[in-house]
Amino acid sequence: MRVRCGACATEVDVAGEGRFKCPACGAVNQVSGGLGGASAPPPAKPTISSVPTMPVPPAEPSPRIVCPDCSFSFIVGAVDTATCPNCQADVPVGAGPTDD
Ligand SMILES: [Zn+2]
Ligand SMILES: [Zn+2]
Repeated sequence: MRVRCGACATEVDVAGEGRFKCPACGAVNQVSGGLGGASAPPPAKPTISSVPTMPVPPAEPSPRIVCPDCSFSFIVGAVDTATCPNCQADVPVGAGPTDD
């Protein structure tokens, strides 16, 4: 079977699957079965079970507030006071999490 060297792309005639050394550049290539087809998927990463994983809290949805001045509804982040993007009014964010 003909394969291409992964280093210099030289076509090399090999007997079959396995390793071969490119005669042109000396690079060792691995020939896997299945021409052009994807071989077995790479092994999945081992799951580390011995280390207790910190519970990751789900991302809280950003609070949506309504500007009292123009009734424009917008999403704010973790801030005390947001500026209305519509009328630039300072809008207090009441539902924000307090972290004292
Ligand atoms: Zn080569
Ligand atoms: Zn507004």
